[in-house]
Amino acid sequence: MKTKIFTMSNQHRDKDSLQEAGEILRRGGLVAFPTETVYGLGGDALNRESSRKIYAAKGRPSDNPLIVHICRLEDMDALVRQVTPEARAVAEAFWPGPLTLILPKSDLVPYETTGGLDTVAIRFPSHPVARQLIDCAGGYVAAPSANLSGKPSPTVAKYVIQDMDGRVDAIIDGGEVGIGLESTIIDMTVQPPQILRPGYVTRQMLQQVLGQVDVDATILSNESGQAPKAPGMKYRHYAPQGEMCIVAGDQEQVSAYINEQISRDKAQGERVGVICTDETAGTYRDAVIKNAGSRGDEESIARHLYTILREFDDEQVTRIYSEDFAPEGLGQAIMNRLLKAAGHKRIEL
Ligand code: AMP
Ligand code: MG
Repeated sequence: MKTKIFTMSNQHRDKDSLQEAGEILRRGGLVAFPTETVYGLGGDALNRESSRKIYAAKGRPSDNPLIVHICRLEDMDALVRQVTPEARAVAEAFWPGPLTLILPKSDLVPYETTGGLDTVAIRFPSHPVARQLIDCAGGYVAAPSANLSGKPSPTVAKYVIQDMDGRVDAIIDGGEVGIGLESTIIDMTVQPPQILRPGYVTRQMLQQVLGQVDVDATILSNESGQAPKAPGMKYRHYAPQGEMCIVAGDQEQVSAYINEQISRDKAQGERVGVICTDETAGTYRDAVIKNAGSRGDEESIARHLYTILREFDDEQVTRIYSEDFAPEGLGQAIMNRLLKAAGHKRIEL
């Protein structure tokens, strides 16, 4: 398949290209597009064949449900059996934006889209290109992240093209995304509502609207013995090719320890990468050093994380050490993705 590439920005959206991409989706084709979280791989959410194609293009297990993207708040109503007052309140508070709601699905949504579940995941993104594309496509676009299954989600079109060229009908290159981590997922079918995947919208923010909000115990630990409630969270995910370890402790000790590991690993022929911050970037030597930004600016760390993991793959890094972050606020999402990338390997000095 020849993949068509459209290029545009939020400020300069190309109406004709968006119409054409919307037509491709209406006809059952696949289009990758930017959102404010990560790039999505879109298909018509109400067409079971399109959903099958998405799984095939990603190499994703078909029991891992897709998020349905909408471009008007009221379009949620057709997708669900019933919109509870809590679901409406949380949608009004955070949409358009990086929050996905799990609700009981209506008959309109095929089981191919929900991975066989009776619930549906819904999000109304804020990214202007995404919104206009969804509108041109008829209003309901199923879109998982636009990476091959198992790879980190793409935050720039270059990595969408690397994974999806020849596998999808079109890719919209809209530049770098703003947030860089996937949406927060909250299950609204349980009482109290439960966060299944942490993201930019934090537990504290949700609690202001919903009162008590629980967090799936598997988010920061793999020792609970339970399966994660979002099927996708059980898969090895977000993972670079190199073997990764998170190192926690006093800043100077962490730098000293990682430098020791660099020398030792290099002597064994490994190519070593380090994920560090503005505060520590100068303390490492002799490795592929990636600075995610200042510790005081978690949004910068979130935005750079996946690109850094991808760059390690590009540079054939075989061992990765990352500094640790406090798992509060946006730090919870950052640590969740880092721990998954590291297969939960973390040492405390
Ligand atoms: P992605 O689209 O790649 O960001 O992944 C979507 C995530 O949403 C996966 O982890 C899915 O397992 C999760 N998800 C989608 N639909 C549901 C649902 N109905 N119930 C629970 N988790 C869901
Ligand atoms: Mg994904």
